[in-house]
Amino acid sequence: MPDEADPADDRVPAVVTLGAAAGRGRLPAPAPRPDARDVVLAALSRRGAVSRAELVRETGLAASTVSTVVGELLAAGLAVDMPGRTVPATGARGGRPATLLALHRSAGVAVGVDLGKRHVRVAVADLAHVLLAEGSRPLPADWPAAEGIAVVADLVEVLLRRAGVPRDQVIGVGMGIPGPVRATGELGDSTILPGWVGVQAAAAVAAALDLPVHVDNDANLGALGEWTWGAARGSGEVAYLKIATGIGAGLLLDGRPYTGIGGTAGEIGHIVVDPSGPVCRCGNRGCLEVVAGGDAVLAALRLTHGELGLREVVALARRGDHGCRRVLADSGRSIGEAVAVLCNLLNPGLVVVGGELGAADDLLLPSLRESLARSAVRSAAQDVAVVPAALGERAEVLGALALAVRCGAPLTADGARAGAPSA
Ligand SMILES: [Zn+2]
Repeated sequence: MPDEADPADDRVPAVVTLGAAAGRGRLPAPAPRPDARDVVLAALSRRGAVSRAELVRETGLAASTVSTVVGELLAAGLAVDMPGRTVPATGARGGRPATLLALHRSAGVAVGVDLGKRHVRVAVADLAHVLLAEGSRPLPADWPAAEGIAVVADLVEVLLRRAGVPRDQVIGVGMGIPGPVRATGELGDSTILPGWVGVQAAAAVAAALDLPVHVDNDANLGALGEWTWGAARGSGEVAYLKIATGIGAGLLLDGRPYTGIGGTAGEIGHIVVDPSGPVCRCGNRGCLEVVAGGDAVLAALRLTHGELGLREVVALARRGDHGCRRVLADSGRSIGEAVAVLCNLLNPGLVVVGGELGAADDLLLPSLRESLARSAVRSAAQDVAVVPAALGERAEVLGALALAVRCGAPLTADGARAGAPSA
């Protein structure tokens, strides 16, 4: 693990492989009538390592077509068999386990960036979905966009060097930002990054990196990360909650990311839970975020505990500090009330709780579940399982990586991008 990586993440495997569910979800509109080779390349890129039978299912192509294309890709060195990576044979006849196939490193790498209020985290992986480098850096509070972009550019550079990847091998960058990202790529005004409102985030970072950049809301990417690699693998109706300084939700409905018409869907942090509560940065009173978010947790402890960080609060609570345990339980209770609203509206089967405070799952989730059960329609409460995130603080950066893989096209042997329109 690189020296900049977070030691708290050691429960997460360094190598992540895409699960069986990874093929679905909203993708960029495909080029009209792409040829079979491009379809197979794109499916391999999305799935990481996959059996030939899965590839047939995934692409919808005839088995003979897939077999021909795979033969060509293997001969060109663009795809490789992964000895030791197999899936059990399926079907009545059984047979030998199937060896998995993946794209060769020369097909390119993807970069994921998670930009937070106080940190930036970057991960680099190849299209076999093997993580090559990962690191993070702290950011000062309320930094201007230009400063954040410079830190992102530098960390991407450092990690590409560490991974031994030349820049022209990068097929794309996915980036998560805390705030609603409008279809224009502009950040909505409920972002917790005041220096970024109105900034065309994708274009600004693309200019600094000289690479194609795709931007989405960080909670949406957390949902995509958990759905692709973590606790929500293969689930149809999922809400991922990112509970940190801000509180946001990423939604997947029928296995597809749901962002709403303007990118604002899932702004659960601005559901009012206390109409006479403190004024929120959105101008309303008593929003969930201002009552139960990271700043509220720290403020509630300031008189007795002085200046703490969220991680310290979680660590102290784990060691039995009564004040910290109480504040986290209160936070969980308020979040449960807002999640009840979400459950009444969308009837999800799964709520995955992540973010810095989500890491305190054993302290936060009992009270969250309790108030959810009390406040939601009984059937909606009975249908939903509330589980901790599996990817920890890496959910967003891994989701950003998944976004980059989905939006980019693998490099072919002649250096051209697969599926690129011909001149
Ligand atoms: Zn608000």
